[in-house]
Amino acid sequence: MYLASFSWKKAAEIGKKNGSIVAVLPIGSTEEHGPLGPLGTDHIIPHEMAARIEAKIGAKALILPTMPYGATPALASFPGSVDIGYEALCSVLKACVDAVMRCGVRRFLFLNGHGGNTPAIDTAALYLYRRGGQAAEIDWWVLSGQLRKEWMCGHGGGVETAVAMAVRPDWVHIEDLFDSEIVHLSPLLKNVHIHNVEFEGASVKMVRDAAYSIPSGDAGYEDAPSRANAKLGADILDAVTDYTIKFIEEFSKVDLTNHPYKEK
Ligand SMILES: [Zn+2]
Repeated sequence: MYLASFSWKKAAEIGKKNGSIVAVLPIGSTEEHGPLGPLGTDHIIPHEMAARIEAKIGAKALILPTMPYGATPALASFPGSVDIGYEALCSVLKACVDAVMRCGVRRFLFLNGHGGNTPAIDTAALYLYRRGGQAAEIDWWVLSGQLRKEWMCGHGGGVETAVAMAVRPDWVHIEDLFDSEIVHLSPLLKNVHIHNVEFEGASVKMVRDAAYSIPSGDAGYEDAPSRANAKLGADILDAVTDYTIKFIEEFSKVDLTNHPYKEK
């Protein structure tokens, strides 16, 4: 079911009619994604997953409108990137939580497409919990690497571009492939992700603007953008969506009657 399809009167009855329904908020970002990926990569993927979830188990999932903007300060200097910051994102997420709780819905799944959103999602998840609800967070790109090692995903790399290709092949700029560029901080402080350097075999976070560390915009490293193809993307999208559907079915069975915080 789509929240947007309800009238306010019918929305008020959602939780009464189906106390185990799981609200699903697809959330992403609008930001650069390397040589090939569209700016919308992070929100078109969870949006598509949510559409498939609705088609398969619509009675068990209440799909909220997709949040296309997120917190992406490290990528904000690339043309087309929109960074709304943590506080604005947090306000939006808490407003979504409040809204579904007024419909009597206490289970909430953040279906996330962008790593920079995690601190705000954690905050909103705790906000929900302290009002008597329970949240879950699925980061599809983390899940893909857990389902199969070769599906490990780097920002703007082959896996992420492939999945974007499975959703919107016409939005992937395959004709623009160019070599990835990575600027290491020093010969012994090697960039291994947007914010992380490797030193003597361990990883250390060093926050900086990605325009200076990954000028090509992709942090794929082992997961080069040139790996992207539609078959790879379709396989990953199917696998992460199937997992999420099974997870929602299990989540809907969780007994919340003994929740330590009273329902408000
Ligand atoms: Zn992304």
